[in-house]
Amino acid sequence: MDQATDSGADPLQSAGSSATEHGPKVISVLGATGSVGDSSLDIISSSPDRYRVGAVTANGNVEKLAQIAIETKAGFAAVADEQCLDALKDALSGTGIAVGAGEAGLAEAAAWPADMVVGAIVGAAGIRPTMAALEAGNQVALANKEALVCAGDLVMDAARRLGKPILPVDSEHSAIFQIFDDANRDEIEDVTITASGGPFRTWAQGDIEKATPEQALNHPNWSMGAKVTIDSASLMNKGLEVIEAHHLYDMPLEKLKVIVHPQSIIHGLVTYSDGSMLAHLGAADMRIPVAHCLAWPDRAPANTRRISLVEIAQLTFEAPDMARFPCLGLALEALRVGGNLPNIMNAANEVAVAAFLDHQLPFGGIARMVEAVMDRFVQLGEVGPVGSVDAVLATDAAARCVADEVRANLV
Ligand code: NDP
Repeated sequence: MDQATDSGADPLQSAGSSATEHGPKVISVLGATGSVGDSSLDIISSSPDRYRVGAVTANGNVEKLAQIAIETKAGFAAVADEQCLDALKDALSGTGIAVGAGEAGLAEAAAWPADMVVGAIVGAAGIRPTMAALEAGNQVALANKEALVCAGDLVMDAARRLGKPILPVDSEHSAIFQIFDDANRDEIEDVTITASGGPFRTWAQGDIEKATPEQALNHPNWSMGAKVTIDSASLMNKGLEVIEAHHLYDMPLEKLKVIVHPQSIIHGLVTYSDGSMLAHLGAADMRIPVAHCLAWPDRAPANTRRISLVEIAQLTFEAPDMARFPCLGLALEALRVGGNLPNIMNAANEVAVAAFLDHQLPFGGIARMVEAVMDRFVQLGEVGPVGSVDAVLATDAAARCVADEVRANLV
């Protein structure tokens, strides 16, 4: 059962909660306590004349969520973990900030009147809140790539019905968004997503197999949450991003390319039929794509990092090594087959990454586990179309069960 929300407040009356036609844009941040949440709140709080906070959510980090809600004068705060509701109520008592918990609480936060909802929850847990935001009529700036990987058609259909594009927060997709000429989409030859290559780019296969969580968490360029950092080390992140780009830009797999670019200065490229290749450059600072989303369709100044091309001096590129990083190939295969296979792959990867971080699985076991789970569903003939969010979440749950079984046999 979902925990009933305890908001007791009219969102349109509550301070800091109502979207107004004039004045600061109201921004809700789902996953406010995470890394993208930090970047979003930094941009919001540094431009109080432009932005103010509507609703904020976390999983169970009550202390940080309450602090954010109080500091930003949010109208509503919700925790996904229902057991944390009482602690959140205590932490926010007397503030006038309404609270909620569980699926209903997250849905209420997503639907809170806002000009934009930043979707920064990690994993498949972000699917329902993303849909709730869109169904409530809120524009979504999406970092939660797993929502597109698992339910891309449903999310994109909801955004189309709403008539407001999904604004990509992921740096590569933000880059592409800025150089993708929709009016000339037929003249686009290909779209290239860059990858830093992660901490194991130059490592031998045998060493990668035995890499520890501490080594995998040591990303050379980006500071991010644990799950996406592990995905970056395995290159699963690039695979997820190809699927994300497929949905965001309606591009077939054949037109989507991945190139390793260790400096992480160029984030995305689009090649046109006349031979022009447009690139987007910027520092490895998530506040840049967040600032782009929040100001869209305008541009607004932001205190983000700048790059000096003279200091950088050299930009280098190499092809991804699919043998040492098999997760990338698995994700591309999932997209090629389509239907619910990306959804299955994502669930297996989430279980595998959690097991790796928990020292229960070697780094090399992540790809083996994902492959085994995908194979199992293919062999059972359970790969098929994605019909509804309920079906996506049922597939997610089934794939997690299979992943747990597979893991027990892999270790
Ligand atoms: P973090 O792990 O730093 O933060 C995740 C956020 O989601 C936290 O607020 C967390 O709450 C919340 N959360 C976790 N589990 C649940 C759940 N079951 N239900 C509801 N909320 C939950 O992740 P990141 O900020 O790094 O990444 C967020 C998303 O953005 C991911 O999809 C990632 O791939 C994508 N992304 C991230 C980038 C980055 O630079 N970090 C770059 C590009 C994309 P709590 O703190 O309480 O656990």
